[in-house]
Amino acid sequence: DEPTTALDVTTQAHILATLRRLCKSQGVAAVYVSHDLAVIKDLVDRVMVMYAGRIVETATRDALFSRPSHPYTRGLLAAIPDVAGRRELRAIGGHAPAPGQRPQGCGFGPRCERFRAGCSQQEPLLQPLSPGHEVACLAPHGQPLQRIALAPIAAVDARTDK
Ligand code: SF4
Repeated sequence: DEPTTALDVTTQAHILATLRRLCKSQGVAAVYVSHDLAVIKDLVDRVMVMYAGRIVETATRDALFSRPSHPYTRGLLAAIPDVAGRRELRAIGGHAPAPGQRPQGCGFGPRCERFRAGCSQQEPLLQPLSPGHEVACLAPHGQPLQRIALAPIAAVDARTDK
């Protein structure tokens, strides 16, 4: 869980290379928990996006970053600073609910620009959008997201973690 938070980028790159090498050499999978989407995009095969303790979208890395469908996923990606471009930075309005104070129906409802009457009736369950891509939303987006430029992680040779 957040193993590289607060590390400098060089040390971070070494740790990520070590993770990759260990997974490959030991034939194991790893679950990496992070708020850092640049690391996620660089490291993983599949992504699960959680909001207020629930999985709201799951997909392969490529599908999630190119065709995010849940409004929260799209909000997260739109909030990434783009140092190369001149895109306006968009924050997600409101706040996540406090523990034990989830709203009725969709937990993201009070912050969602696509909120509609049915969203507060019952909690949406994960539904397949395409093979391997599921989303818990009554009105998921269907369009690709404008390309987001994430700063690449510093390159480190995966054969060494010195
Ligand atoms: S279910 Fe409704 S409120 Fe929840 S994310 Fe989807 S559109 Fe928004």
